[in-house]
Amino acid sequence: MIQLTLKPGREESVRRRHPWLFSGAVATAEGDGSSGHAEVVDWGGRPLARGSYSPRSQIVARLWTFDGRALDPSLLRDRFEAARRLRDAAITPETTGFRAVNSEGDLCPGVLLDVYGEVAVLELLTEGTEAWRADLESAAREVFAPERLVTRASGSERDRGERACVPALEEEAGLSRVPFQENGLRFFADLSAGQKTGFYLDQRENRSRLRALARGRRILNLFSYSGAFSVAALAGGAARAVDVDASGAALELAREHRRENGFPADENDFARADVFEDLRRRAAAAESWDIVVCDPPAFAKKRGDIARAARGYKDINRLAMSLVAPGGWLLTCSCSGLVSADLFQKIVFSASLEAGVSFSLAARQGAGPDHPVSLDCPEGEYLKGLWLERK
Ligand code: SAH
Repeated sequence: MIQLTLKPGREESVRRRHPWLFSGAVATAEGDGSSGHAEVVDWGGRPLARGSYSPRSQIVARLWTFDGRALDPSLLRDRFEAARRLRDAAITPETTGFRAVNSEGDLCPGVLLDVYGEVAVLELLTEGTEAWRADLESAAREVFAPERLVTRASGSERDRGERACVPALEEEAGLSRVPFQENGLRFFADLSAGQKTGFYLDQRENRSRLRALARGRRILNLFSYSGAFSVAALAGGAARAVDVDASGAALELAREHRRENGFPADENDFARADVFEDLRRRAAAAESWDIVVCDPPAFAKKRGDIARAARGYKDINRLAMSLVAPGGWLLTCSCSGLVSADLFQKIVFSASLEAGVSFSLAARQGAGPDHPVSLDCPEGEYLKGLWLERK
């Protein structure tokens, strides 16, 4: 256990139960941090919180308890059980792929657990939670009882500011196509070379809205990854759906997803391209679509990126808007936590001015209830989706 003593007057955020302790607030660190356990005390030595210790990170500790409770295996189990109760209440049996533990949102900072049918993927996002690997794996097995548990420990690399590389899971049989269902539709998570932990579970609610709107319409799905929006649209009776993505592997999976759900995979419905270039071509050809979905990767990964990210969002939205037929829809998303909901809406507004087309905001839709956000840590709310109807 390492004891972190705060500088005088730096205890306010901990008292408000914010789970991130920044290194700048710490006066001294005493003891042995190798177990990943940290105790936080104020300048006067009074205990404030306990958490996981990541000495190389700017966020030197992620705080789990504020009432003196020890971070032992029973606490981990209790937290996972509370997380499971929320999923039991919110996820229907037609959905077997969901986020089972959502880091700060489930009071388990630095830990993600995604379930895909019989396989669960435990992701340890910090050096501190990596040190708790054995106890976290036991808790995951006990509470969620997956047939198979796969762990990705990316925390140390992240903490050192390196790009978190995905450990080579490719050799492990069967992990490139792990089957599961979302609202009765059949998908595969690619846990070998796949993105995130293999599927964008956070877009489930937007996919079901699209399904409800899609009948008879033509859909252009930008940044499609494995084409899950298109499958949802076709299940809702869409006339056609076209996936655009730069990744050949993602589009291959997108073709498989269509066939798996009984839809043809026509080669004209998959475009391997840079979306910015593809959109310019489509705009020059005066194409018109009933629904455009625009779900790019996070353009801002650090504070210094925000201005450039804002320009990227504006360009892509201006081009996407110019393709939407009157009476049609644009679902536009940002998963950059650093771009606030307010800023994103302003960017989208200025894109509509530049495009010369009017839209009404019909709904805001972020991630579903399996991605809860702690009120103590609003930073956990990263996904913003705006449903815009063209006037
Ligand atoms: N909408 C998807 C998730 C999108 S993730 C879903 O619901 O599953 C972002 C995707 O954008 C990735 O598949 C990545 O390959 C793709 N991508 C990133 N930059 C791109 C670019 N400039 N042009 C085309 N695709 C891009």
